[in-house]
Amino acid sequence: MSGVAERYARHVDPAFVKLLGVLGYGRVFTRASGVHVWDDQGRQYLDLLAGFGSANIGHNHPRLVARLHALLDEQPLNLCHTGPSPYAARLAEALAEAAGGGLEMSLFCTSGAEAVEAAIKAARAATGRSRVVFCDGAYHGLSLGALSVSASKRMRRPFEPLLPGCDAVPFADEEALERALAPRDAALFLVEPVQIEGGLRFAPPAFLQKARALCTKYGTLLALDEVQTGIGRTGSLFAFQQAQMAPDLLVLGKSLGGSIAPAAVTMTTRTVQKAAYGPTRRFDLHGSTFAGNAFAAAAALETLRIVHDERLAERSRDNGAAMLAGLRERLAGHPLVADVRGQGLLIAIDLRARLPSPLPSMTARIAGQWLALALLERGVILQPASQAWSVLRIEPPLTIDPIEIARAVEIIGKVFDEHRSAAPLLGRSGRRIVEQVIAKGRFR
Ligand code: PMP
Repeated sequence: MSGVAERYARHVDPAFVKLLGVLGYGRVFTRASGVHVWDDQGRQYLDLLAGFGSANIGHNHPRLVARLHALLDEQPLNLCHTGPSPYAARLAEALAEAAGGGLEMSLFCTSGAEAVEAAIKAARAATGRSRVVFCDGAYHGLSLGALSVSASKRMRRPFEPLLPGCDAVPFADEEALERALAPRDAALFLVEPVQIEGGLRFAPPAFLQKARALCTKYGTLLALDEVQTGIGRTGSLFAFQQAQMAPDLLVLGKSLGGSIAPAAVTMTTRTVQKAAYGPTRRFDLHGSTFAGNAFAAAAALETLRIVHDERLAERSRDNGAAMLAGLRERLAGHPLVADVRGQGLLIAIDLRARLPSPLPSMTARIAGQWLALALLERGVILQPASQAWSVLRIEPPLTIDPIEIARAVEIIGKVFDEHRSAAPLLGRSGRRIVEQVIAKGRFR
């Protein structure tokens, strides 16, 4: 076991390191630049995961690195609690301009889950109601409040009871949503425009428009979780902008900090902010030590500028469409592939729920992980959706160029060529498990 893995296993997460060993992910990644990542053996990988959608501008973008060097040389007051922060103020102004739709106010946070909590709290405080409606298949994070509105039973169960009054409705089901909102007691409807962790399920624009109308009709606030779809991923700066509607609350994180700084925010309207936190006795009911710190705010502001100047949302739209077409053509008729779909540089390869012989009972759930491993061995990093291993997700840095896209399509095509039935997958997984037993679970 390498020193890093051993130390990590001993002091951070033994089960994670063990699982990586079983699956064959025994690599320690140490360096990253643009669309590439390197491990400690100097091997280069093309990154089609981008830190689960956190590196939309690419790893260590030179402009962001230069900005942060300059910032630190300025000796800024990083944690400013006794007066308004110039960095947070400037970022909030830029966010308001970028989002439009009346989303003029920023509630700063440091993680996506915290921003989800901020949306729940703001909605409850603003409406005086407590119920929260969320969707089957949703993933909103792992803090207690965020888990309360996330679907995974496995992730929820050890922490129950969670927040009361959180009710799930089927994803993108207008009638179910109306039934849930009709009692007029829901503070919030929270939904992802694309359920990425849930298996890249895309909400139709018509559903988002209908959700907007229903929320308005029943006095419920509408929050869109764009932690992973935001910052250009789906071909516009925010996914909601393609649906011609606007939420009352917009939850952002991940790529907002340019893959360097932990930055997150819940944006909302002046009306909601005032209703929730307007009175002076409530001014401090949202906040945390690191929220809006200078380093994160400066990183986020520079990230927004880079996305704008390099036209990354437009490039995501155009290069994503080309990559989707390339993958559809390359994988057409493949016996393991049920569907290839996408929007911008967010693409799903959906594996069949039941694989052909020799073992029809072997579900595609495991297959996604073994295909990802075969790709890793060819120098391509990608992962299945975390809550649906039968769906391979592709979400590279938006800076990826057409040549790298063509290379990625070719490697993915080759790996799928080698796996036209469940047999090679089964052989590979069986071999790996036996080898790990012989190696006594060594990380390799
Ligand atoms: N919402 C969505 C849609 C996400 O994808 C994630 C993270 N995968 C979160 C919330 C939680 O963000 P964080 O991990 O920063 O808490």
